[in-house]
Amino acid sequence: MTLPSDSHVHTEWSWDASRGSMERTCARAVALGLPAVAFTEHVDHTVWRLDRTHVDEGAHLLSFTSPDGLVTPAPFDVAGYLDELGSCRERYPGLRILSGLELGEPHLHAEAVARVLGAGTFDRVLGSLHCLPDGDGWTEPGELVGRRPSAEIVRTYLREVAAMVAADDTFSVLAHIDYPVRSWDERVDGPFDPAPFEVEFRHALEATANAGKALEINTVLPLHPTVVRWWHEVGGDAISFGSDAHEPEALARGLREAADLAEACGYRPGRDPHDLWGRVD
Ligand SMILES: [Zn+2]
Ligand SMILES: [Zn+2]
Repeated sequence: MTLPSDSHVHTEWSWDASRGSMERTCARAVALGLPAVAFTEHVDHTVWRLDRTHVDEGAHLLSFTSPDGLVTPAPFDVAGYLDELGSCRERYPGLRILSGLELGEPHLHAEAVARVLGAGTFDRVLGSLHCLPDGDGWTEPGELVGRRPSAEIVRTYLREVAAMVAADDTFSVLAHIDYPVRSWDERVDGPFDPAPFEVEFRHALEATANAGKALEINTVLPLHPTVVRWWHEVGGDAISFGSDAHEPEALARGLREAADLAEACGYRPGRDPHDLWGRVD
């Protein structure tokens, strides 16, 4: 079986991808035999608090971090991005290159998001929750570790996801439903098991299915198989795959295993390689 399309990829046009490169990512996609790739750049409008010691030295965000730790992501350059996308399509005619965006908390920034969406054509639009309410502001889940119990962070995240998908009409794919698991500390809390969070997972998955959105299997971490099974049980129609690569070397990581998991849970490829996978029954 050929690899599925990598539908969640960042390049230098994302504010936090200092090692990204659209050109080199296309070259790598061709070398890997990947049929299609979607460049889903960050569009973030939430200002959040970050421990400065957690900042990546090379990240484009540095000049936007105030001394008190507030991060304001750089605005997305739609015209520059679309220009580069056009050049890459000319240089790599055998690779299907989709335009795209990863909208952070789009339900909180309807006007700003509408402006970006109106400035171009985007084939694949992902919706992401990257921050949680924290006092009178917002914070990445990882920044809350140690200040709140890990289980509470996961529960809050899933509740916010349900609220986001229900309120939104801009994106078609829910990205990384397991985002807070990236900061789950196995040494403290043991291996992550979704079972204690079944109610919250099912609620978020149901809200996503009811909104007609697809679920992404994000391969930064292997998504727990139980979550994909629940997605099928609540009636989820479609699955998307994404490496969430922020540099060319990470393109397509784990996609083979993710495709095997989707297949085992009752999903199959669409007609075209860049189509979302659909359920068979
Ligand atoms: Zn994300
Ligand atoms: Zn991403």
